Amino acid sequence: MNEVGLMRNILDSAVERATQEGAHHIYLVEMRLGEAADVAKESLEQAFEVVKKGTIAEMAQLQINYVPTVCYCSNCNIEFKPINSLYQCPECQQPYCEIRQGKELELATLAVS
Ligand SMILES: [Zn+2]
Repeated sequence: MNEVGLMRNILDSAVERATQEGAHHIYLVEMRLGEAADVAKESLEQAFEVVKKGTIAEMAQLQINYVPTVCYCSNCNIEFKPINSLYQCPECQQPYCEIRQGKELELATLAVS
């Protein structure tokens, strides 16, 4: 996983959105990070420090909000919160159920001026 590349994409969208709103500075970038996205928060924060240099987000803070993982078992028709990385259904024990939520890695909101 290339965190710098990921953050550059997120920052690009942030700058584009801010520019469309006529903003000159971004001072807060809020993003969503799913628990199952398999990316460390610290790596993203470090990458953000690198990619924001020389952009209108140079002074911006990054706020990362976690999104909990929610799985779905099609056998049992239930949603559940996995207790291990196998995403195993607590009813029928089927492993690797569908992940409905928790893969997010995206821009949420911006504070601009
Ligand atoms: Zn099940």
